[in-house]
Amino acid sequence: MSATTTIKIAYLYEDLMNTYGDSGDVKILRHLLNQQGFDVTVTNVSLGADFDAFDYDFVFFGGGQDFEQTIVAQDLQRHRATLAAYIEASRPLLAICGGYQLLGAYYETSGGTTIKGLGILPLHTVYKADSRMIGDTTVQTPWGQIHAFENHSGRTYFDDKNMLKPLGQVEQGYGNNPDDHEEGLHYKNTIGSYSHGPLLRNLNVAQAIAATIIAAHEERLATTHA
Ligand code: GLN
Repeated sequence: MSATTTIKIAYLYEDLMNTYGDSGDVKILRHLLNQQGFDVTVTNVSLGADFDAFDYDFVFFGGGQDFEQTIVAQDLQRHRATLAAYIEASRPLLAICGGYQLLGAYYETSGGTTIKGLGILPLHTVYKADSRMIGDTTVQTPWGQIHAFENHSGRTYFDDKNMLKPLGQVEQGYGNNPDDHEEGLHYKNTIGSYSHGPLLRNLNVAQAIAATIIAAHEERLATTHA
């Protein structure tokens, strides 16, 4: 296979943002893409690394605990412009739990501190003492039903409900928060989700994302002179 058919995946802070095996999402995508004849490289874009999102066909941002999120959130601000442009250009990105929270304006931790997010998407995440949202989830998405599990204290709310749509409707569990009965986010080709398990063991969603990645790869090849 020639080098030009290599699909490039950026995994933001792979060493820090991988709660409950979220790296499984990347492994499943790699497998599906390999099956369709593509080579796949996965680059860990960690603390201090240079990063241009447009060098990649897919960006993944996994979940993280408050401690890791605090460290990552500071470094991440350097990449705000490239990630904002990438998302706006409809390039594919999947962010789970802690990564999803950091796409928004801020995340209030259970420890009482507020972590500044990227502020790319109009959403914010707050903490309320009475319950951590833990358990199995069932969500109805445009691609069919998905099963996963969640474990988060942050409650995510959309600040612009015209712009942001949820990934799906909650049938079991909490999702974004205990009030809206909605799980995750879908904006252009960006998906945010509280679903671990990993999320992409749900092959309906995995195949939809793989198709988007292939389309983005073809677009990147058409616009760059590799
Ligand atoms: N620390 C965040 C929360 O508890 C995210 C946790 C996670 O990524 N699983 O809300």
